[in-house]
Amino acid sequence: MGEAPILYWVRKDLRLADNPALAELARSGRPVIPVFILDEVFDAYGAAPRWRFGLGAQHFASALEKIGSRLTFRRGQALATLRALIAETGADVVHWGRAYDPDQVARDKAVKAALTEDGIDAGSVAGHLLFEPWSAETGTGGFYRVYTPFWKSVRGRDVAAPESAPSRLAAPETWPHSEDPAEWCLGRSMARGAEIVAPYLTLGEAAAKDRLDRFIAEKVDAYDTARDLVAEDGTSGLSENLAWGEIGPRTAWAAGFQAFEAGRAGAETFLKELVWREFAYHLVWHTPHITERNWREDWDRFPWNGAETAEVTAWKRGRTGMEFVDAGMREMYVTGRMHNRSRMIVASYLTKHLMSHWKIGLGWFAECLVDWDPASNAMGWQWSAGSGPDATPYFRVFNPETQVEKFDRNGTYRRRWIAEGQADPPPTALAYFDAVPRGWTMSAKDPYPAPIVGAKPGRERALEAYGNRDF
Ligand code: FAD
Repeated sequence: MGEAPILYWVRKDLRLADNPALAELARSGRPVIPVFILDEVFDAYGAAPRWRFGLGAQHFASALEKIGSRLTFRRGQALATLRALIAETGADVVHWGRAYDPDQVARDKAVKAALTEDGIDAGSVAGHLLFEPWSAETGTGGFYRVYTPFWKSVRGRDVAAPESAPSRLAAPETWPHSEDPAEWCLGRSMARGAEIVAPYLTLGEAAAKDRLDRFIAEKVDAYDTARDLVAEDGTSGLSENLAWGEIGPRTAWAAGFQAFEAGRAGAETFLKELVWREFAYHLVWHTPHITERNWREDWDRFPWNGAETAEVTAWKRGRTGMEFVDAGMREMYVTGRMHNRSRMIVASYLTKHLMSHWKIGLGWFAECLVDWDPASNAMGWQWSAGSGPDATPYFRVFNPETQVEKFDRNGTYRRRWIAEGQADPPPTALAYFDAVPRGWTMSAKDPYPAPIVGAKPGRERALEAYGNRDF
């Protein structure tokens, strides 16, 4: 009888390098069985994340094969599935990469407690973040509610160097049965969208690393200004890979830090952006209600409109008549991503001009984004709505018309995504009509709508409501 195998429960850490949990298991020299479970948490994901996570896992399976291993795919409730695998394989250890968002934390706590009770060595290893969310404390021992002091408190820390990929992973004597993830049809809810979005994906660890290297080599110098120009490819584009763990945050940090030390302009801003992601997890850890309820409780009395009104439908479909908003919404539908500036504009328009609840937007992003991240999405929406961790108060109302003059001055972005009114629309703008459900009955030949709520009246209405708030 050989040594009992270890189960490595693969989740949002679809990479070989800079993966502390995997590195630790490889070092043990014991046989390792990597397992991916389509469990209760995954099952609740929106269409695009569900599809993208599945693709990432299948890609990771081929990476594991190159180091002599194999990914076992199973479907079912996490604990029951792990217990079944333990019974089948004789494993006595189950390890996984640590998660910090409420849904995963609840599941992981229950799994750990139950398996420990069964006599299994069950536990997590940090790797999804640069710093543990509880490791940053204010002078009085609390957590940070504002980004800048958080950044100041962590920027001087040493970040551990990323570990290299294991060259081999010891195999068990026999492999457990694996389901075929292709049969799970994880792209089913994407309908026609999967085919349209697929060419825009950057799938897998090697592609992610390549993206990072190109960003540092070619773009970081101009990042400070280019990052806000919506028609430019001026950012790293790494959120998709960070979300599914196809690149480790330490790898991104090390590349940015090296550029910073070499005096490259833009490098510090890039590091600061990586720390925004950390801040989102700091908040979600300390205030998990950020994903569900107003982060600032005084906003509970604010009369958000939670209904799926005709205006909300127009927003979702990129038919508000505000070009910046519609271009952003269509960009998301075609590519599975949206420029950060546009995310702020569309979120501000939904919550302020349309006075609709931020949870509607949060849910729609969770449905459509291939870089969906529970912490960054929640922070981004609450920040935009005013109910979240913004140092500036509620009266920040982005004006989509003046923003467009600043960040898409010559209209490239709008022409790229809005077909209506163009004699010869580009393929990107036309692709939108191929991606959306047929039931939306939209055509590129439709006239472009007048604004459902204009920039100025919407702003005034929002400010009046905020000003009159008795909360
Ligand atoms: P870069 O500019 O190259 O930045 C590098 C990395 O820093 C990013 O990959 C990301 O991990 C991190 N980062 C940058 N900006 C932010 C930010 N504002 N908040 C948190 N992390 C940041 N980001 C997601 O990853 N998933 C989401 O679901 C998500 N939802 C959002 C919703 C709203 C309403 C808003 C306003 C922002 C949201 N963001 C989300 C943050 C941000 O828009 C994206 O991280 C960014 O557009 C990713 O592009 P990039 O990788 O090219 O970023």
